[in-house]
Amino acid sequence: MTNLRWPTINHRRTSPFGPRASTKDKFHDGTDYGAIRAGVAGDELFAIGKGKVLFVGRSAAYGLYIIIECDNWCYLYAHMDSCMLSQNDQVVAGQIVGIMGDSGTEAVHVHVEIRTGIYGPNFWDKDGDKFKNSVDPETYFRKAMYTEDLQTVVDVAEFNSGDFWQNLIDNKATMGEVPVSIFISALAKVCDIIKER
Ligand SMILES: [Zn+2]
Repeated sequence: MTNLRWPTINHRRTSPFGPRASTKDKFHDGTDYGAIRAGVAGDELFAIGKGKVLFVGRSAAYGLYIIIECDNWCYLYAHMDSCMLSQNDQVVAGQIVGIMGDSGTEAVHVHVEIRTGIYGPNFWDKDGDKFKNSVDPETYFRKAMYTEDLQTVVDVAEFNSGDFWQNLIDNKATMGEVPVSIFISALAKVCDIIKER
């Protein structure tokens, strides 16, 4: 499960995986990503891997959430505004799973968890404060931009027009760890594509 697609177009991490100082939530079992426009719900959430929807539900802590099972791992998105999929739906990487929101939380973001192993009764078992099989999602996400990532940039840019580009300029962290040189060449390609249309 290396080289996974990013779950959001915005790679701006708002909270990392790992121990937390807060007593309420001693270990953060996922990674949080904010919206393209901070605080505004509506960003698309993309499937990071091919699999099957195990569950769509609501809880006080997760809000509206989904669990998708892949070959030998699972992933979960929480705090969604809406979900496009239902139990047992087949999922391909890159397809839209739902919309980012603030259900079960106060700030608009997606909480992404990855668990090694298949879903089973031990899915929610804890090892101290941490879910037994949770791993840091961000270590699996692509560090380079691929053609399909670029297409997403084009799609989102067309939806958001100037606001998207201004956000990129204002928030240098938006593109996460994509190297600046790759990002600049991607922008040049985007300009070419838009010109051709
Ligand atoms: Zn979180």
